[in-house]
Amino acid sequence: MKLDNYNKKRNFNKTNEPKGIKKETNKKLKFVVQHHLARKDHYDFRLEHNGVLVSWAIPKGPSYNTKDKRLAVLVEDHPLDYRNFEGTIPKGEYGGGTVMIWDEGYYKINGNFNKDFKKGSLKITLYGNRLKGDWTLIHFKENNWLLIKEKDNIKGFKNINNLKTSIKTGRTMKEIEKTIKKIDIEITNPNKIILENPKITKKDIVNYYKKVSNLMLPYLENRIISTIRRPDGKNNFFMKHLDNKYLGKIKVKNENNKKEDYYYIKDINGLISEVQMNSYEFHIWGSNIKHLEKPNMMVFDLDPDEHLSLKKLRDGVKDLKSILDELNLKSFLKTSGGKGYHVVVPIHMNITWKKFRNISKEIANIMETKWPDKYTTNIRLKNRKNKIFIDWVRNTRTSTSVAPYSIRLRKNAPISMPIKWSELDKVKPNGITIKNVTNRLKRVNPWKSFFD
Ligand code: ATP
Ligand code: MN
Repeated sequence: MKLDNYNKKRNFNKTNEPKGIKKETNKKLKFVVQHHLARKDHYDFRLEHNGVLVSWAIPKGPSYNTKDKRLAVLVEDHPLDYRNFEGTIPKGEYGGGTVMIWDEGYYKINGNFNKDFKKGSLKITLYGNRLKGDWTLIHFKENNWLLIKEKDNIKGFKNINNLKTSIKTGRTMKEIEKTIKKIDIEITNPNKIILENPKITKKDIVNYYKKVSNLMLPYLENRIISTIRRPDGKNNFFMKHLDNKYLGKIKVKNENNKKEDYYYIKDINGLISEVQMNSYEFHIWGSNIKHLEKPNMMVFDLDPDEHLSLKKLRDGVKDLKSILDELNLKSFLKTSGGKGYHVVVPIHMNITWKKFRNISKEIANIMETKWPDKYTTNIRLKNRKNKIFIDWVRNTRTSTSVAPYSIRLRKNAPISMPIKWSELDKVKPNGITIKNVTNRLKRVNPWKSFFD
């Protein structure tokens, strides 16, 4: 396989560079120039060919001066995804240093790539941002080639070394290094389709989570998570035990009293790294790791019988709120992103899981006792006919419920979205999706007083 050398040289547990996988080639051929500050400063010049990037390392970088002959050392083929790589490669790893996307665009081969490559003379036209016009690569010995600018009417830059920012992100080398401390997660396979009809890609989901991270992290961070992964864009896997260097890890006794490793998100790196690992739905515990045995987020899930009207479901949510109001418990509303609504109650009392569970069960019991024809606390489906199941069961230690702002892996990528109480009658349980959420995010945070 053409990318074997590439893969052999790298430890993908340590570097965020993409794994070498051969890809179908698009019609328009891409090229990229990456400025690479490694042991030696150089520019990597890469041409898409046969599903990989044929690559040369150019110590001085390309020059627009037709008299310059720039040494270009042929190196191993790189995977197509590599053209999106900007970031740092850890010290001590192969190519350790900082990589900047210095230029990118399309190119045309003036001839036949395979034949001309063998002959040792490639004539190309570049359609980049910084590199344009006709260029020739000439082989002279071993892996050594020369990159030469041909005469044409393109007016190029005098000194390309003056161009010190990324063509993609506008960042300098220093800034790329610094952002390492914020988000240094490189997303592989950004165009992978995760959901069909309409198509939603991994990149769409990454962008969504980056956009909501400030709003989402207060609910997500420092809580043990389970996620739903969808690595192939088809099958879902519910994961309890994730391993990822960006996550926090904690040993916790599980429901069988055995100690197990659990994981939690500490910051945006943890969130985005999980998405990079194809985790798209986030489910959280009712307590956080600093006070694991003091639950502080109670969730009531209203699960309607499949034939129940939306009107009755909404009345159910209102009935629940009226009970919580009577008990002086402040409550917050979110869509489930599926069939129901979730009512969330922040708990400030210092109580055990057992007490917490009993309180939530008691509240569900009040509903059932007061309106026995409308609500049930029994999880069995046959007891749900024409009723709403008030699911209090998730308020137990080690169980989870979907986090506010998490997307759901269902059609349209609906979001479990915090909404105002006054919006209950307007917003459907799966009404807010990755596609229509943007305007909503500009409004006042409907859960602003959650942590008061
Ligand atoms: P809906 O409105 O469609 O009912 P929901 O979030 O209320 O959405 P589910 O998606 O059915 O309900 O999730 C039910 C509960 O079970 C959630 O608390 C979730 O964290 C948890 N869960 C989901 N999948 C699994 C699984 N495979 N194993 C264990 N728990 C799961
Ligand atoms: Mn539900």
